[in-house]
Amino acid sequence: MQGTLYIIAAPSGAGKSSIVRALLARDAGLSLSVSYTSRAARPGEVDGRDYHFISADEFEAMVAAGDFFEYARVHGDWKGTGRQAVEPLLAAGRDVLLEIDWQGARLVRQKVPEAVGIFILPPTRAALEERMRKRAQDSEDVIRRRLAGAREEMRHYDEFDYVVINDVFETAVSEICCILTASRLRRAVQAAHHAALVAALLGEG
Ligand code: 5GP
Repeated sequence: MQGTLYIIAAPSGAGKSSIVRALLARDAGLSLSVSYTSRAARPGEVDGRDYHFISADEFEAMVAAGDFFEYARVHGDWKGTGRQAVEPLLAAGRDVLLEIDWQGARLVRQKVPEAVGIFILPPTRAALEERMRKRAQDSEDVIRRRLAGAREEMRHYDEFDYVVINDVFETAVSEICCILTASRLRRAVQAAHHAALVAALLGEG
């Protein structure tokens, strides 16, 4: 029995982290993979919860040891999903959520073609800019760079199976819950989960 792998990607400023938090609270069948990164923790970020914060050398050692399920350089920092955060859970039949960028999503799709990809878009360009400005007290230059990064990420939205617009937060969360439910009802998944039932129903006599 295999769990399902879900990939959620979005430009920064689309509200992805809040959506993921709401999904985990609502859906007990879902586990979030905590990524490794070589970037420094931001104020408020907790090691082991937001990321496993490691040095660039440690990251390279993990790459050499084949410890990553996927990894990519994202905005100058290394980010990666540990194999241990994914493979044992999937093998035990749990569904796993990866919050990763489009490059990592491509690698995952090559490995696991049946992974379900969800892309979150902001409702308008103005909303995206506003969320970025609100979040950071950064200089105009940094904000411009972030916006360019967001556009680069959004260019890849068409590589995902589902697109959710985060206009009304609750609606976006509900829509993703619907995607989770529908994907769990796919015939291949149901056939694996209910093999005994199907055998009994189709059996002779
Ligand atoms: P931030 O540095 O703002 O936390 O994340 C920036 C980007 O890195 C986001 O698009 C996020 O999806 C991506 N990211 C986070 N963890 C991983 C990971 O393990 N692998 C990949 N490929 N991207 C990641």
